[in-house]
Amino acid sequence: MNAPRPKVRIATTSLAGCFGCHMSFLDIDEHLFELVELAEFDRSPLTDIKHCGPCDIGLIEGGVCNAENVHVLREFRRNCKTLIAVGACAINGGLPAQRNHLDLEACLREVYMSREGLGEGGVPNDPELPLLLDKVRPIHELVRIDYFIPGCPPSGEAIWKFLTDLIAGRTPRLSYPMMHFD
Ligand code: SF4
Repeated sequence: MNAPRPKVRIATTSLAGCFGCHMSFLDIDEHLFELVELAEFDRSPLTDIKHCGPCDIGLIEGGVCNAENVHVLREFRRNCKTLIAVGACAINGGLPAQRNHLDLEACLREVYMSREGLGEGGVPNDPELPLLLDKVRPIHELVRIDYFIPGCPPSGEAIWKFLTDLIAGRTPRLSYPMMHFD
């Protein structure tokens, strides 16, 4: 009798994103049952694992807006054989990058010091809070990325096709109708 095929280990995370790409991942619906036969999850919103360990595939949603994002992204790159940028925010900064043309300090003052009920009159500076970067960066500016799945968000169908190609050892390919650019 053939030994069962070892499961592929997958990690996912959201950096400066809205979790919409993760919601789209869950849109693979009944394929989730197939996926749990083929794969197990490391760090992900689907588990309570706090750090990414050695994995076959890492899926990153969101760009990089603070020091913690940098740390998490580098941890994923060190541990994942194949790293995939999922969605517009990971690929080009997306919506969070709209702050890139604003002065960060002015932006923080406007949010926390000009409006009642926020920040008790000051910009939050608890040392536990991750330091903000001056600009929101796409993830390929910090680490090498193996694949990109465009869309805001990419469809569940596209994410499923990508994953099943990779798990089967094929180079992932999306047909044109599966590609979203909005
Ligand atoms: Fe959300 Fe769109 Fe960014 Fe995905 S690409 S994290 S859906 S804003």
